[in-house]
Amino acid sequence: MLIDSHCHLDFDVLSSDLPGVITRMREADVVGCVTISTWVKEYALLEKIAQTQENVWFSIGTHPCNVAEEPDVQASELIDLSAHEKCVAIGEAGLDYFHNPESSDLQKTSFRQHISAARQTGLPLIIHARKADEDIEAILREESEQGAFPFVLHCFSSGAQLAKTGLELGGYLSFSGIVTFNSAKEILEIAKACPSDRILVETDAPYLAPTPHRGKPNQPAYVRHTSDFLANARGIESSEFDRLTTENFFQLFAKASLE
Ligand SMILES: [Zn+2]
Ligand SMILES: [Zn+2]
Repeated sequence: MLIDSHCHLDFDVLSSDLPGVITRMREADVVGCVTISTWVKEYALLEKIAQTQENVWFSIGTHPCNVAEEPDVQASELIDLSAHEKCVAIGEAGLDYFHNPESSDLQKTSFRQHISAARQTGLPLIIHARKADEDIEAILREESEQGAFPFVLHCFSSGAQLAKTGLELGGYLSFSGIVTFNSAKEILEIAKACPSDRILVETDAPYLAPTPHRGKPNQPAYVRHTSDFLANARGIESSEFDRLTTENFFQLFAKASLE
């Protein structure tokens, strides 16, 4: 069995066919998933999805690309909202200088509020990092000195240096369908070298469908392709890789438990 550690079931292309998405997920032996928040204002929608679906959990946070429109989220608010029994993580938060370089200062402030919430709750922080390796690394180091917090560098697509720092600080690396693309050799090398107790898999659906579904809307069922591809690349049995990423998932997302 597998878990999709990161998807967006509230996005139209998935929410418009939620029963179908969940059925196909279970048929692919993917037993659960975390639907990740990109807006705190969408809390009620995420809560409803998680509440009505077995083994679907949710997170709460502001995506860096939405920070300009939702700039004032405080750690205290994130902590209050994350008290829900099916809210198992903080984020996604972080820095995205590819899409929104103009809001970099707001993104940094918001990122630190999310880190504070993760530190105080002990819930894992889902980190989104795009074209911002140096600033992500600096903030992770600084904040870790103030007190450790659990985190995952999700949809890992950064450089080897950030991977190294993330692992050194106790973080996890989560790999998406990107690793199945021919163009992503460097990321695949990082995935092959990632320690067995710190690797996770995800879809980031509806984005980034893995080969052989590349270009189509992604869905949690497709985490199977990414996982089997990585098992093969790492030279281990699929079933063994399933077992270890699922174990890692419950280690990091310790509040999630199967229903
Ligand atoms: Zn992201
Ligand atoms: Zn995402």
